[in-house]
Amino acid sequence: MDLTKARALVAEMATADVKGISFTAGEPLLYLNDLIALIRLCKKYGIYSRVVTNGFWAKTRPQANDIVSALMAAGLSQLRISFSRWHQAHVSRENIVTAAASCQKLGLDYFVSFVTDLSETDAPYEQFLQDNHLKYFPEPLIYFGRAQKLNRPEVFGDYPSNQCAMNPYLEPTLDMFACCDAGSRFTETGFLHLGNLSNHSVATLYGKYETNPLYYLIKTVGLTPLASSLGMKTGEIVTYRKCELCEELFNSTKNLDRLKQLLNKEPTRWHR
Ligand code: SF4
Repeated sequence: MDLTKARALVAEMATADVKGISFTAGEPLLYLNDLIALIRLCKKYGIYSRVVTNGFWAKTRPQANDIVSALMAAGLSQLRISFSRWHQAHVSRENIVTAAASCQKLGLDYFVSFVTDLSETDAPYEQFLQDNHLKYFPEPLIYFGRAQKLNRPEVFGDYPSNQCAMNPYLEPTLDMFACCDAGSRFTETGFLHLGNLSNHSVATLYGKYETNPLYYLIKTVGLTPLASSLGMKTGEIVTYRKCELCEELFNSTKNLDRLKQLLNKEPTRWHR
């Protein structure tokens, strides 16, 4: 995205009362100067800022300290460092430790996002994070995009509600989506597409995001009761991962129409 456009969008988001922006998707630190300019702007408007990075830049402590210092001086609120066996095929895992150590030393809030397929293969990766006393949060792999081709271990669990925070996501094309993980994927229904900022204001698209009753249900009661109301059996629902269940429900015109009908007829049926 062109920097002038990005600056204008941050300003517009501030007017629309957006409270936080996460710079992500690809590797934002490839564009360090642009990123610093945008973080400064977030700081000016009182917007919480986060950068998601693979830590490629943290090869040595002095290098990592320089980058972390520059991000902090610009006003960055938090660094999220991605870690997984797929990321670490390209970036040394020592970079993750070095990046985290710089954050700790210089006082920047950080955490490691541990992307995992929950298999035994990932156990040594998690052990590495524990051995290095890193603050991390596991994040189950979403089998979208390039991960679609990977083998999927069976899902084990009880009966999760499958709630989702749904963070709105803006692409460089200016298409805005109601979630960051499925974006352009729900092509049959366009359920998650809020619109394009060439034709709409940030406030308009946020308004759509905040008032959509189905998004509200996904955030509050979760996908599981919605699936159940469409006739899916409990034993079938538990075989789905969250985003795949979401796709099953909302990338089908038939299911979407049925859910809208149920919502109109009986808006409180999912609350207990
Ligand atoms: S559950 Fe649906 S809305 Fe939430 S991240 Fe997955 S695809 Fe997006």
